[in-house]
Amino acid sequence: MESVIERMQRIDAKKRIADFMVKEKQDYSFKVKYAKIRAREFVDECEKRNFNYHVSVGGLDSITLFVFLRSIGIDAPGISVSYLEDSSIQKVHKLLGIERLYSALKPDGTHWNKQEVLQTFGFPVLSKEIASKIELLANPSDKNKTVRHAIVTGETGEYGGNQKNSRMKMSQKWLKKFGGYANDEEGVNYDIPTFKVSARCCYYLKEKPCDDWAKEHNSVPFLGLMASEGGRRAKSLRINGCNYFGKSTIRSAPFAIFNRQDLLQLALDLKVPIPDIYGEIVKDENGLLRTTGAQRTGCSMCGFGIHLEKRPHRFDQLAVRNIKEWQFWMTSCVTDEMTGEKYGWGRVLDYIGVGWTLETNPLIQEGKNGGDGQD
Ligand code: SF4
Repeated sequence: MESVIERMQRIDAKKRIADFMVKEKQDYSFKVKYAKIRAREFVDECEKRNFNYHVSVGGLDSITLFVFLRSIGIDAPGISVSYLEDSSIQKVHKLLGIERLYSALKPDGTHWNKQEVLQTFGFPVLSKEIASKIELLANPSDKNKTVRHAIVTGETGEYGGNQKNSRMKMSQKWLKKFGGYANDEEGVNYDIPTFKVSARCCYYLKEKPCDDWAKEHNSVPFLGLMASEGGRRAKSLRINGCNYFGKSTIRSAPFAIFNRQDLLQLALDLKVPIPDIYGEIVKDENGLLRTTGAQRTGCSMCGFGIHLEKRPHRFDQLAVRNIKEWQFWMTSCVTDEMTGEKYGWGRVLDYIGVGWTLETNPLIQEGKNGGDGQD
């Protein structure tokens, strides 16, 4: 079987990345023209291959994509698991006629909700990539043996090109906290948390319903992804480009070469309805566009990236918006299967060293002190 490294060499991944990054440095009008061409090409190719196409809509980026496609005459229907989004985003989805989907079905025919996903699979924390690795370590099988070994040691085996220190290895900091599932097999001495970790929340709540809809409608998605936002998908966007017709994945990301500034400028140019949660798009003193409210959104009770956020972090903000909801998610959204005790995100955040209590919540303490910062 071809190794990952051999594949990268065969497709000349380095050159592809370099070429893509040249396009990322072009100006706004080049990028908008480029996006139009790529979007139309994608539609043509879909027509040749007998596929329908749609837009997977969430926050501002994909709302802008939806409006952009309409503006160039591409009437792709929009779909979204809208109820997971902020109510102001839901309003805009409604205004634009986005089709509302519900989370995936459980075997009993009802829909998964977030609480059930946390209880059954575990908490989405740190990052999608790290959470998936922890989940693999916690669920050992013969099939995932090589991957688990790579996660703990960095040694990838033959398929991964026999690398010794690959990026598959989890950082030492998180191995120490979560690597204990592999203690016996790898002869290490790491800890095991008293809660489960999983990256499957997005899958059951968002991805599967969209995938199922796509299958049912023989449709492939336009996505509002931008390589400049980094993360797991940046590299594959740079290697595969805006339009990708792979064996198992077909997608178009016409904004792949955009940065935040381009996206906000386009939202202004197209008069995109901006959900209230973002506030307005304004120019700051350095001439850079920004939103006056949230810069990005997502589910409010998500732990991905929480360890990188400064306080007041998203959970602190929820405490101010809705203390009852905060209490529920922090202290009692799931049940400990060993002890029967109720617990929540508080246990998870304590374990990874992120503060969360009301006594240390800067927003609440400011309020108590009259907001002047003086004791
Ligand atoms: S963004 Fe976070 S909370 Fe929302 S569905 Fe995905 S993993 Fe779950």
